[in-house]
Amino acid sequence: MKFIEATCEQCGNCLVECPYLKLSRESAKEAIIHMIETRTESESLKNCIGCAYCDSICPTHSNPSELIREITVKNISKQGLPRFYFISEEVPVNSATIAMQLETATKEKNLKEYLNPPKSEEMFYLGCSLSYIQTDLLNTKLLEGLPKIGGAKYCCGGIATMFGDEEINIKGKSLLDEFNQLGVKKFIMFCPGCLGMMKGVYSNLIPEFKNSIEFQTFSQYLIEKYHKDEIQFTTKIKERITFHDPCAWIGLDDEVYSAPRELLEILGYDVVEMKHNRKMTLCCGSSVSDSNKEIYNEISGMRIAEAEEINAKLMAVSCTGCLSLAKPARERNIETYHMLELAQIAIGEKPPHRTIELRENYKKLIEKTVKANPDLLKDKVRIKNGKIQPI
Ligand code: SF4
Ligand code: SF4
Repeated sequence: MKFIEATCEQCGNCLVECPYLKLSRESAKEAIIHMIETRTESESLKNCIGCAYCDSICPTHSNPSELIREITVKNISKQGLPRFYFISEEVPVNSATIAMQLETATKEKNLKEYLNPPKSEEMFYLGCSLSYIQTDLLNTKLLEGLPKIGGAKYCCGGIATMFGDEEINIKGKSLLDEFNQLGVKKFIMFCPGCLGMMKGVYSNLIPEFKNSIEFQTFSQYLIEKYHKDEIQFTTKIKERITFHDPCAWIGLDDEVYSAPRELLEILGYDVVEMKHNRKMTLCCGSSVSDSNKEIYNEISGMRIAEAEEINAKLMAVSCTGCLSLAKPARERNIETYHMLELAQIAIGEKPPHRTIELRENYKKLIEKTVKANPDLLKDKVRIKNGKIQPI
């Protein structure tokens, strides 16, 4: 997607309605005009978290978040990003390799499988968080019968979006080559960020990508299996639950939003909606949970307050990033579950529900590692022609 300057009326609605920036109409208009005319940052947007909620607000569908991204890409292409954030086989120490220090033997065994899937037309695409951090979620009968693909080699390449369309194109085509060699025609997706990349970014930019591979969320997959009688959900729980939509889905089709709600109803839950839902969802704040505690507390607090307003006892998420809400929500008596855990419970399994523990242990390890090696965050690189290069 691109910002469409021709249709932008410079009304400022997108930025006035942004739940996090709290701008007056006048400042919002000034900021959007400044960004359009100079293609440089506006001080008013220093707390922007890149959630794309403003795209859902814009009455002329001009994609204002893409204007913000265009400016960010320009800056990052010059300044680079810490090497540490690049989950790639080209980077020996990164946020994924550090995760390998926890429960190493099990992760190594699993990764051997995820990095060497057999040829298959249909596969589970895991994404990095399920491969390296929230690994418990994959320990279920629900994921038997199809190969799993994951790990750094098959990372969706989300970081390429920070370096412009040319780099996105290169990454998308190289992934497509890998997928074609494996004979994949359909992926069942777990991470909303990976789905956003595959279905929202690569499929829009690269016609072969769109024509070669079909994508389905795991909620859609489980619903299909349920209707074909290939799976039985025997343990029904009639609790009041709300589903938190990930912002990575903004711009995708309605079915992606309907599926988790339909699945929760099949599982017996009483589904209630927060004020901001579907395409108008609020962000969980995970992107700033480590870098800006004050903003993070405000953003996550707004989301949890909406769940409290409707007396939800449980909150379901489909994104492991959104599991950042679990700890503050528990402090306010709302328990957060990943959708996979709820499906596991419904088939009679007992998931360990260690999502908060795994996240906290990982965060502590990252903090300790970075404290001992501050250069990990100082050493900046960029992607150029598909390769990671020093700045
Ligand atoms: S992007 Fe949309 S909402 Fe924002 S100023 Fe332009 S027309 Fe108005
Ligand atoms: S991307 Fe999110 S935080 Fe940034 S201006 Fe848009 S709505 Fe606000």
